[in-house]
Amino acid sequence: METFSRFGNMFPPEEYMQHPYMLDRDPIQIADNLYYVGNLWCASHLIDTGDGLLLLDTPCTMNLPGLLGNIAKLGFNVTDVKHILISHAHTDHYGAVNALKAITGAKTYMGQIDAEDMHQPPEYLKKMNQSFGAYNEFFTPDVELEDGEHLVIGNTDIRCVVIPGHTRGTMAHFWETTVDGVPKKVGIYGGAGFGALSYSSLKNNAQPLALRKQFSESIRKVWDEEVDLMLGNHPFHNDVYQKGERVRAGEKDAFLDASEWKRFLGNLEEEYRTFLEMTEEEITEWFRESHLMEYYGLEKKDKEENRETVYQTAG
Ligand SMILES: [Zn+2]
Repeated sequence: METFSRFGNMFPPEEYMQHPYMLDRDPIQIADNLYYVGNLWCASHLIDTGDGLLLLDTPCTMNLPGLLGNIAKLGFNVTDVKHILISHAHTDHYGAVNALKAITGAKTYMGQIDAEDMHQPPEYLKKMNQSFGAYNEFFTPDVELEDGEHLVIGNTDIRCVVIPGHTRGTMAHFWETTVDGVPKKVGIYGGAGFGALSYSSLKNNAQPLALRKQFSESIRKVWDEEVDLMLGNHPFHNDVYQKGERVRAGEKDAFLDASEWKRFLGNLEEEYRTFLEMTEEEITEWFRESHLMEYYGLEKKDKEENRETVYQTAG
């Protein structure tokens, strides 16, 4: 496997965890009613449905100020966030749900399978909540979504597809938006990291072995989806900030790339296949190297050797 993997250890170095605002960057308009409001680590997407704002995934609670700042910078009022949809049961995607709900009163949605982890949290998720900064909380979704269910809010009809592997009930989402008035198909793969699928991580986290096989099957399940505009549930999955630079330079369709979905899934499948053949020692070595700062060309200022055990569970 190449040294760099966008599916490996992409957690922020300790300095950024101690100063979470260091992860914040300005929001980016992706399509006519679709915005990136996340940070360098965690993706959050905002859809202006015409019937309230819908937020897809929250960051960890430590990054909630940055999220609120980005919503405000776009000219929206945070209290117009009426719906919060969560892709899967990992802290870096749901940690701030309760805090945001307290501000907005938004209705919350999550796949039925991962919602079980909110009702009866496994130990590894409790650890993850603690290790990703302060005040992360489990939440009780108002609506639990089934495989194939549609979430229709205002002008937006989101199809939810269960893609088990990254977690037991990760969901991918597909809907139609417009770019400069032209209809385009959006797709987001709800959880692509596979660091937690080693035998030792599955055992430590008390997660089913079947996830190893399901991870591959899920890639194939959505392989033939038509996607003109691929989103990522981490910004390094679809090069959000690189495209954001192009948007800033005046390119309105920087996020349009009809070949990206299959290219992404192909890379994911290939890297995962290699991963399955690695020894535990090779996996630990592969994972230990932090790549987030290298990805952004930022200086890596520390090593976080004592944290990889918990961190191998997420992404
Ligand atoms: Zn995750």
